Amino acid sequence: MLHYSRPIARLIEELNKLPGIGPKTAQRLAYHLVTGPKEDAHSLAEAIIEARERTIYCSVCCTITDVDPCPLCRDETRDRTLLCVVEEPKDILVLERTREYKGLYHVLHGAISPMDGVGPQDLKIKELLARLGDGRVQEVILATDPNIEGEATAMYLARLLKPLGVKVTRMAHGMPVGGDLEYVDEVTLTKALEGRREL
Ligand SMILES: [Zn+2]
Repeated sequence: MLHYSRPIARLIEELNKLPGIGPKTAQRLAYHLVTGPKEDAHSLAEAIIEARERTIYCSVCCTITDVDPCPLCRDETRDRTLLCVVEEPKDILVLERTREYKGLYHVLHGAISPMDGVGPQDLKIKELLARLGDGRVQEVILATDPNIEGEATAMYLARLLKPLGVKVTRMAHGMPVGGDLEYVDEVTLTKALEGRREL
């Protein structure tokens, strides 16, 4: 990195920290940003700062939002007896696209993964338990990813939640094993929701 000027080296270093951005891509993006229109670079920098400063975790479902509670949690037309547990905020968008699900959500912000040093205490599980306290939720649908970490998380939650007297289900039918919810098409996802089984 010695042959880069310091500001470019710093930019490359920061871009390289982003998921999916390797050193080569970071270098390409950095040069693009310093050689392209100044307004574009400023606009990107401002968008990053605004998004970072103006978003918070919803105090109910833990998704990323700029209003608290988030619009989904505020929506009185949603079925408050149903709670769908997902790993990431983006999974909510995926499930909303099916237009089949009318309940509420809870975002864990990850999945149990001993290899990556992620344990139950690192996920929004305490917040999930707090939501089940008033007995309004009758069914918790575990929609964690269909991979090893997602399954482990679903099993852990099922053991934790079943003694509370709540129905615990898992989307299963036709879900590709080893994948990410994000890449499952809407028809498969709708079928998986309809065909959910009790754990
Ligand atoms: Zn919310």
